[in-house]
Amino acid sequence: MARAFLCDFDGTISPTDIGAAFARAFSPGGAAEHDELLGPWVSGELGHRELTELQCRLISATAGEALAFTRRFTLDPHFAPFVRETLARGDQVMVVSEGFDFYLADQLARAGLQDVPFAANRLRFEPGCVVPEFPWSAGGCGRCGNCKGQHVRHWRARGFETVLVGDGFSDRCGAREADRVVARGDLLEWCAREGIAARPFSDFAGVAAIAREWAGA
Ligand SMILES: [Mg+2]
Ligand SMILES: [Zn+2]
Repeated sequence: MARAFLCDFDGTISPTDIGAAFARAFSPGGAAEHDELLGPWVSGELGHRELTELQCRLISATAGEALAFTRRFTLDPHFAPFVRETLARGDQVMVVSEGFDFYLADQLARAGLQDVPFAANRLRFEPGCVVPEFPWSAGGCGRCGNCKGQHVRHWRARGFETVLVGDGFSDRCGAREADRVVARGDLLEWCAREGIAARPFSDFAGVAAIAREWAGA
């Protein structure tokens, strides 16, 4: 059975959480990343869609400033080789993110990965403010902006074994649904607490090795 690798972006494909760095840099005193805001989301009181809306009220940036900032960061250099190897095997890769389309599309294109499908939230730059949009919110749990659970279900319905690769709390719905989980950071710890089996990884060279092992190669 072919596998679909659904990969988180911030903190996973991109070693730096670009979305968090952006929110911190463009809100007064980094307020959009303060614990008072993130805590209720980590504990589950607040969904990620609502968190994103609250954060965006604090953020002010033009599209040009935002892109100039996010271009300081680059992807895990092992991600592009992982994608090529995975596709050559007949498996699939999709990027699933609670971050924003503007830096995802830019970063993927700069890594020569513009053809890799991705799903993310959208950020509209308006004079004096930014407005988040959630094109993927309809099929999810109702609390996430872009619920990764729906993407897992979509790929499974198409006949794939599903693998969620991620590092954080925005991956929880996806990890609950996926056939297999590859995790690090907060997601790995959360999986251990929830009794969800997860393979640890440190970078995409490691994910590629796990994928090869599962493929029997
Ligand atoms: Mg992440
Ligand atoms: Zn969800």
